[in-house]
Amino acid sequence: MNGLLRTAEPAVPVAIEGSLQDLTSIAPIGAMHGFVPPTVHQQRSFDFMIVGAGFAGAVLAERLASQAGKRVLICDRRPHIAGNAYDHFDDAGVLVHRYGPHIFHTNSQRVVDYLSRFTEWRPYEHRVLAEVEGQLLPMPISRATVNELYGLDLKDDASCAAFFASIAETVEQVRTSEDIVVSRVGRDLYNKFVRGYTRKQWGLDPSQLDASVCARIAPRVNDDRRYFTDSFQAMPKHGFTRMFERMLAHPNIKILLNTDYREVIGLIPFDRMVYTGPIDEFFDLRFGKLPYRSLEFRFETHDREWCQPVAVVNYPNDHAYTRSTEFKHLTGQDHPKTSVVYEYPKDVGDPYYPVPRPENADLYRRYRELAEATPDVFFAGRLATYKYYDMHQVVAQALTVFENIVATPSGVPAPELVSVTR
Ligand code: FAD
Ligand code: UDP
Repeated sequence: MNGLLRTAEPAVPVAIEGSLQDLTSIAPIGAMHGFVPPTVHQQRSFDFMIVGAGFAGAVLAERLASQAGKRVLICDRRPHIAGNAYDHFDDAGVLVHRYGPHIFHTNSQRVVDYLSRFTEWRPYEHRVLAEVEGQLLPMPISRATVNELYGLDLKDDASCAAFFASIAETVEQVRTSEDIVVSRVGRDLYNKFVRGYTRKQWGLDPSQLDASVCARIAPRVNDDRRYFTDSFQAMPKHGFTRMFERMLAHPNIKILLNTDYREVIGLIPFDRMVYTGPIDEFFDLRFGKLPYRSLEFRFETHDREWCQPVAVVNYPNDHAYTRSTEFKHLTGQDHPKTSVVYEYPKDVGDPYYPVPRPENADLYRRYRELAEATPDVFFAGRLATYKYYDMHQVVAQALTVFENIVATPSGVPAPELVSVTR
């Protein structure tokens, strides 16, 4: 067992995965690996065990420690904090996102205000091009996209709206991702930009997925080439991991990495738990496995300054990978080399995406009922609430869960699991 428990004393910098953390020192957990003399801290139980050091876990650890004075142990089975938002410098010294491109965007001032306590921001507006029939075209589908694809000259929003109306299909009730796209922009654009990408990404046809999946990338009649339209779009100036380090740099927070919480349950006393891992795992797959889609990442570093014109290129129709991301566009890093990641969707592996479709929602509801009847455990985040949430939504959800925790005395079941809107 190579789990690391950081104790409050003495304060010595600790290197984790190449990032220097000036939080607290580390010591092995005695019960797991030989004898460690008990300290005052080890004799007292933690108020909270938090499972998962991603956005959900880190926000809750920070709030519970700093606002409620709770003693928190945050544990993650990975060797680093920051969950899927983890970034680090690769061997060439380029800042990369280990789990694929993470771009921060939100319309919530509350979320911006909260995170701004832990980071400065670098303004960044995300741009994506899709490779279709040998052209690189703006995604989401917009007036610019159809002008370039079809050689049109639609000059304003009204003419583009009329064009879309002329090619859209009538759909009585929009239920699926196929419905939502063909009802807005018709079959040809659907086939060129959406069908292949979605089948690759999810291993399912868009007709088998909720409309909400493709609704994320809504077509537009203007020629706004940005991927997101949110009022706030920026990247943490020194990266996500640095921001997490600052969130967790509180004397009431101890961090245990490389450790599945099930390895230490019974060894480390705590009163209540926040769980941010997959909800079906928490209940030992009692009702069967909830599908989570996974990815494999292939990183490449090139001995030239740039590889592609924008941060992300999508490949709806060719290749086994869905997209390639060149990180320096996101981070603003100045470096003579460049690193790119390719994403290969998979069924098995680390759980990354809940799969939004009715039968999965039904199965999730059964797990949610169990969760709501489990006293002293709070479920939060993308995996534990089975929601296709972006980072800002997970932060908003975690802030609300914190309010619920403060309002819920120990020993009673948590209130209904929290959902947030975009
Ligand atoms: P996670 O970050 O998954 O954290 C959960 C943690 O729990 C993990 O670190 C895991 O190791 C740990 N854990 C699970 N089970 C256990 C256990 N038994 N014991 C110990 N630890 C455990 N969002 C955006 O806003 N913008 C983007 O551009 C964006 N791009 C994305 C690209 C990809 C490829 C992916 C997969 C996601 C993207 N997201 C993006 C979504 C974003 O990653 C999530 O919204 C956010 O990271 C979820 O945070 P979380 O804390 O809920 O979960
Ligand atoms: N999508 C698509 N073509 C694209 C981009 C997205 O069909 O070029 C669909 C696909 O189903 C994808 C979904 O829209 O899974 C959401 O895209 P997003 O970029 O939000 O995915 P994420 O960044 O979460 O992987």
